[in-house]
Amino acid sequence: MTSTPSSLILATRNAGKVSELRAILADAGLPHGLVGADAYPEIPDVKETGVTFAENALLKAHALARATGLPAVADDSGLCVDVLHGAPGIFSARWAGRHGDDKANLDLLLAQLGDIADENRGAHFFCAAALALPDGTERVVEGRLLGTLRHAPSGTGGFGYDPILQPLGESRTCAELTPDEKNAISHRGHAFRALVPFIRALLT
Ligand code: IMP
Repeated sequence: MTSTPSSLILATRNAGKVSELRAILADAGLPHGLVGADAYPEIPDVKETGVTFAENALLKAHALARATGLPAVADDSGLCVDVLHGAPGIFSARWAGRHGDDKANLDLLLAQLGDIADENRGAHFFCAAALALPDGTERVVEGRLLGTLRHAPSGTGGFGYDPILQPLGESRTCAELTPDEKNAISHRGHAFRALVPFIRALLT
């Protein structure tokens, strides 16, 4: 895989995240090409051993920057529920035991919150986004999407906990928003946009 010197690599195999960050870089007028980690299949995934979103995002970004010699961006995100003191948090993807089983994770969370009344169902999506350069320079920023949790899933869009998170000021769940509507208010959108000034300052 060849890349121009102004390429950035994004530590994800999720094509949706790559196109979301690509659009944000283009909107900001940044000239950087963006490639997903899929372009480097020989590089193994990093173990997420951190205990905060920021630590995990930095671990992934540094590992990829070291392995490729390119500036790397990584994000780590999850759902934080007020009454659970921030859980599932960094365990969001494997809350029910098996990594990435979105339906089991959502069903378990709804069951745990079964007796919790509407006024106590506050929650937010959280995202840490990290930029790491091959020389070890790093920056990390965060974004949040505040909302409340429904008692039952609604909507077919999105992924993960989208069908139960209703953003503040919305009558729909995240799974009922269009991708553009969600990107405009999402934790990941906020975090990626907050990273733009650092990309501009360190890489242009
Ligand atoms: P990751 O950081 O993209 O791997 O996300 C970790 C987990 O957090 C996902 O598996 C989802 O369960 C949850 N999550 C993160 N962002 C979102 C979102 O935008 N919608 C719904 N669930 C999310």
